[in-house]
Amino acid sequence: MRIDVVSIFPEYLAALDLSLIGKARRQGLLELSVADLREYTTDRHRTVDDTPYGGGAGMVMKPEPWAQALEDVLARGPAAEGQRPVLVVPSPAGEVFTQAVARELAGREHLVFACGRYEGIDERVVDWARERFEVRPTSLGDYVLNGGEVAVLAMVEAIGRLVPGVIGNPESLVEESHADGLLEYPVYTKPAVWRDRPVPEVLLSGHHGRVARWRRDLQLRRTAARRPDLVAALDPAALDRADRAV
Ligand code: SAM
Repeated sequence: MRIDVVSIFPEYLAALDLSLIGKARRQGLLELSVADLREYTTDRHRTVDDTPYGGGAGMVMKPEPWAQALEDVLARGPAAEGQRPVLVVPSPAGEVFTQAVARELAGREHLVFACGRYEGIDERVVDWARERFEVRPTSLGDYVLNGGEVAVLAMVEAIGRLVPGVIGNPESLVEESHADGLLEYPVYTKPAVWRDRPVPEVLLSGHHGRVARWRRDLQLRRTAARRPDLVAALDPAALDRADRAV
């Protein structure tokens, strides 16, 4: 998979050199490059923003540097074979980023992330980009960040870890939160008793069936307590009789 990020703060994305995503890049599983939007300005001050039409507080990102940067990304990207690249535009006004969206994007060949700042990017860039990309305005959640970079760090990590080969043991992707619409069960490690707190006895039983049932019950209870919206969205056909008794 190829990932391009365009930002006025490319240094923000340095964290993508670390840990599993950094390793995946070094192994060639992910090809990631970060471009500085200011490289695509033409004035002495490398200006990327201007005042908003219609008035109001704050500044808006100018369209032309974005068009230049995105055209350059397209020119350097993999030759399009049927699939258009996806342009993810982080925005609190976008579709909410979920594990399902991460899964979908992990199957794409070329992702491009456009990090907004100030009051956001001139809307005409989004219209223009729709002729070249599949455009996805995407929100990390219902709150406002100062810029798209932090959202991109989160999204690239969530997407990247689903790319085959990035996580050593693919089993760990099957059992975690949101894989099956539920939150993960609580986890424990050694020692068996820590500061007078024993691990639940069932986990020491060696009985796989009982452990699996206990974990499933805890998943259901935890999800009902913390995220009733997820329980309401479950497919009733995916629940067995013991699930319904929880
Ligand atoms: N004026 C915009 C609005 O109210 O929708 C908010 C602009 S915000 C200060 C600047 C940039 O931060 C946005 O263009 C976007 O790139 C990013 N951003 C802020 N909150 C975000 C969120 N919840 N999810 C994704 N990106 C976000």
